[in-house]
Amino acid sequence: MLNQINGNTEGLKKSHLERLKGLFSMKTARDQFVSADIVEELTSVTLEINREVAVYINRSGKVVDVSVGDNATVTLGEVVGRRSSDRLSGIRCIHTHPQGSPALSDVDITAMEQLNLDAMAALGVQPGQAPGICVAINNMGNHGLPDNYTVVGPLSADKVVGSNELMQNILIADKRSRPSAHEIKDNLEEKAILCAVQRPGENLDAVHDSLDELAQLAKTAGVVVLHRVIQPRSRPDTATYIGRGKADEVRLQAQVLGANVIIFDSELSPAQLRNLEETTGIKIVDRTALILDIFAQRARTMEGKLQVELAQLNYLLPRLTGMGTALSRLGGGIGTRGPGETKLEVDRRRIRKRISDLNRSLEQVKKNRNLHRINRKNTPIPVVSLCGYTNSGKSTLLNRLTNSDVLAEDKLFATLDPTTRRLNLPDNKEVLLSDTVGFINKIPHHLIAAFRATLEEVQEADVLIHVVDISHPAMEKQADAVLKLLAELNIADKPMITVFNKIDKLADPLKIEMLKKRVARSVFVSALTGAGLEDFFAVLLECLPGTRVRGTYAIPYSESALIALCHTKGTVLNKEYLPEHVQLTVDLDEAVLVRVKEYRN
Ligand code: GDP
Ligand code: MG
Repeated sequence: MLNQINGNTEGLKKSHLERLKGLFSMKTARDQFVSADIVEELTSVTLEINREVAVYINRSGKVVDVSVGDNATVTLGEVVGRRSSDRLSGIRCIHTHPQGSPALSDVDITAMEQLNLDAMAALGVQPGQAPGICVAINNMGNHGLPDNYTVVGPLSADKVVGSNELMQNILIADKRSRPSAHEIKDNLEEKAILCAVQRPGENLDAVHDSLDELAQLAKTAGVVVLHRVIQPRSRPDTATYIGRGKADEVRLQAQVLGANVIIFDSELSPAQLRNLEETTGIKIVDRTALILDIFAQRARTMEGKLQVELAQLNYLLPRLTGMGTALSRLGGGIGTRGPGETKLEVDRRRIRKRISDLNRSLEQVKKNRNLHRINRKNTPIPVVSLCGYTNSGKSTLLNRLTNSDVLAEDKLFATLDPTTRRLNLPDNKEVLLSDTVGFINKIPHHLIAAFRATLEEVQEADVLIHVVDISHPAMEKQADAVLKLLAELNIADKPMITVFNKIDKLADPLKIEMLKKRVARSVFVSALTGAGLEDFFAVLLECLPGTRVRGTYAIPYSESALIALCHTKGTVLNKEYLPEHVQLTVDLDEAVLVRVKEYRN
């Protein structure tokens, strides 16, 4: 890696590359900003190749990096050996502008601020003219100075070469850069650009909905979203997902906005991840990694933690080469958090070993859990499971009903592991009420297994409560996503109450009337104000096993199994053999009732 030229060296002649490499051996005096040799060589090479050239010089006056851009940009980012995110890096950049003007662009300034460069200088290069120079000295976040940086110039470049004033100013700025705790936090904050591809025929609103959800997920992970990018494409690019040109554009936007992570609204292939990281020099995170990160932050039970770590390692393993640079460079943040705050190990052999250990521990935990479950099956208390889209208000409802204190937040996935509480119903009946992690729409399929542990509670339930946020614009889609997932888990045929929550936020009361007619066994509540909870209790009581409902059913002779079931599980009060069917009047539990209700008279 020593003395390698960074950036876009494609199409450069060997002789030019040799001359660029020669820059590494040009010393600058310690008290000098840049040597005359370097200015001269930068100028003449730039004129020949018509591209931006940048050198990075450290405080001892050594050139530590050389990089080449196109005629408008140069890739910064990769090259600065970082000292610390809250101090000046001790490195300054001198680069050329082939168009002639030495004026510093927004991108130049942002790059300086992002990389904590000591200073950023631009040399305006034109044939037949002595170069002009502008220098921005980084004041590191305005420490008592009127501005975040001080611009010197435009001057003729030889003025700067001869002066030691610039270096003195840099050292003063460095002394001042003792940031407060607040600023350190600000520097560590993750700031993201979100990216999605819009395919032909795909509605733009749908892309935005999905990005809304991604933004919510980002917020849950503690990331600030600065900007969204939607790229129409016939299909995602196999190499870079959004296409190389667009990726380049996003890189510049990230520099200007100060974003330090780009989040994609889809799962990227290992190659896409690697290529995007190389193109942008910025940490790349996909939807899967983001969701896993949230699981990691939230997992509380042993089984949840093991499952999440396992899913993370399985995700990581094929991507190790891709994630190497950015993760080691940036440390911390999304994609690097493991459950219980342990950093993920970036070493294949150790990861494989860890995966097999995790699998073994999981087996053990599962065995124990089965014991617990068998015990609970023996208790006569019915189990009621709250499920529903994330953020629909499940935890709030559980708290409201049981006065317990399950974490409720305006963030996605505020609940990961099921939390079970005892709930006393009005007529002295008791149920166990369990909260679950929320569903989201585009949950990658291989993650469903990762937190099936949390859904296993749902499989045990006697009654499901599907909580729906009635005030959400995408309510129908969210409800469908939940029902679809329940069907996949083979638990859709349990008795279910649909609780439409947040009616306090609903502007249109007609919506309630409409849904009441359309959705069987629906109640309308506000977990926040407590409105509608009486109705909820009444409907819940009806559904509980042991609560029998009398009805008359006309069951065809072909359904002999159902007829038998009514006799074994219910109390038959009257029975008539009619030509077409058997007519039964019978008291039935909810569990049986759902199976025969289509024959109800
Ligand atoms: P969960 O992800 O389904 O468990 O949702 P939470 O219970 O964490 O609630 C998500 C957000 O919705 C929180 O900010 C709650 O305060 C809010 N919320 C829950 N129920 C209601 C409600 O009935 N009305 C209103 N206005 N907000 C609610
Ligand atoms: Mg919750």
